[in-house]
Amino acid sequence: MPDTKPHAAFDLAVIGGGLSGLIAALAAAEKGLRVALAAPAVAEPDGRTTALLADSIAFLREAGLWEMIEPIAYPLRTMRILDGTNRLIRAPQADFRASEIGLDAFGYNLENKALSALLHQRIAATAAITVFNEPAQALKETRSGKHAVTLASGKVIEAGAYAAADGRNSMMRDALGITCRNWRYPQVALVMNLEHTLDHHDTSTEFHTETGPLTLVPLGVKRSSLVIVLDEAGADALAALDETAMARELEHRMQSVLGKLRVVSPVGRFPLSGALASRFGKHDVMLIGEAGHAFPPIGAQGLNLGIRDIRAAVTLAGTAKHESAEPLGERYHRERASDVASRTASVDVLNRSLLSAFLPVQALRAAGLYLLANAGPLRRLMMREGVLPGMGFENLSGRLRNGFRPQRSA
Ligand SMILES: Cc1cc2nc3c(=O)[nH]c(=O)nc-3n(C[C@H](O)[C@H](O)[C@H](O)COP(=O)(O)OP(=O)(O)OC[C@H]3O[C@@H](n4cnc5c(N)ncnc54)[C@H](O)[C@@H]3O)c2cc1C
Repeated sequence: MPDTKPHAAFDLAVIGGGLSGLIAALAAAEKGLRVALAAPAVAEPDGRTTALLADSIAFLREAGLWEMIEPIAYPLRTMRILDGTNRLIRAPQADFRASEIGLDAFGYNLENKALSALLHQRIAATAAITVFNEPAQALKETRSGKHAVTLASGKVIEAGAYAAADGRNSMMRDALGITCRNWRYPQVALVMNLEHTLDHHDTSTEFHTETGPLTLVPLGVKRSSLVIVLDEAGADALAALDETAMARELEHRMQSVLGKLRVVSPVGRFPLSGALASRFGKHDVMLIGEAGHAFPPIGAQGLNLGIRDIRAAVTLAGTAKHESAEPLGERYHRERASDVASRTASVDVLNRSLLSAFLPVQALRAAGLYLLANAGPLRRLMMREGVLPGMGFENLSGRLRNGFRPQRSA
């Protein structure tokens, strides 16, 4: 007979064992919460890499995880944007250096597989986390605004709060009756790791092309990860090449900036799409990561946004014991709504501006990059805002309050 007695001794139940769920469970335990984690085994290893920006690294440091992760993380000190289009109006090259905003690195690149393995090891060694290696099957209301989760085996988990990290097809979100808007882009991302003969000098290079960005991110000595966004036919044609021909074709598209290439991983294929929940929390449940939002892999935003969800969710779960008149899910929604909406919109606009054959849009994009490349205060503001969300505008408003004086360009 299944054990259906509620496991009620938890402050927070995290549903889902992707990167968002694993980080959320550990961050909550670090805050002194008693955590349940429902994390079914993952069928296929995740071949992607993730660039985590400075704000996320600061959070991992606070959660006591960075020391463990740092040995598998590769710094990203310069970001270079190159116009790889053949359009009439082309944008100038723009280089952004972390040192210009007083940082050692904008962020770090990691292999998802390696990161997930380290997080699992730490979870196994953390007494405050109880792991259930099975999916959640149902979310049921036990009393007004309070829930319990039933797992596949019939076990029942009851907790003070729930972090739904069960991905794009979130059962938790659907059970709460929260709708989700899904959309597709006419593009596919091919993802792989490369070895190359030239040094990357800790520089991430992004070529803007007519079908989307081609982004190289450092992943060790003379090693980089590549995300190339193409139309479907282009992706099919590239993926059909053997490794030697593919390496030659990629070297050509990258204008040989990294010299000769070798493809050293399987090629992953991800159709580009977006998803946005109509709200991010309800009652005692908070949606984190792709359960609440998903967008194309452009500008390294997805998990970075998820980590900001986790920061808010863990803080609120820590205060959930001190009852408040306003339900936790409402407070969480209010805290996360504008950040999620603005990141979703900016990735969408950036992607559409690359695809647009409309001359004024090309001119705007080129002018925008020209301004970013040449206007010192603006470029520093956008750099700060990109890696330390909120900080750029906070600094700007501080300077406005204290009498804004333009700085000389770097
Ligand atoms: C090609 C590509 C490159 C990317 N690069 C970057 C980058 O450089 N930087 C960045 O910040 N982001 C990047 N992202 C985005 C990032 O990968 C995602 O934001 C992140 O992986 C989402 O993690 P998640 O845990 O929210 O969701 P998922 O990884 O989808 O995890 C959800 C988990 O929930 C589990 N689950 C599902 N249903 C249940 C259930 N009923 N009960 C229990 N568990 C359940 C699943 O098994 C899964 O393990 C990239 C995305 C792509 C596609």
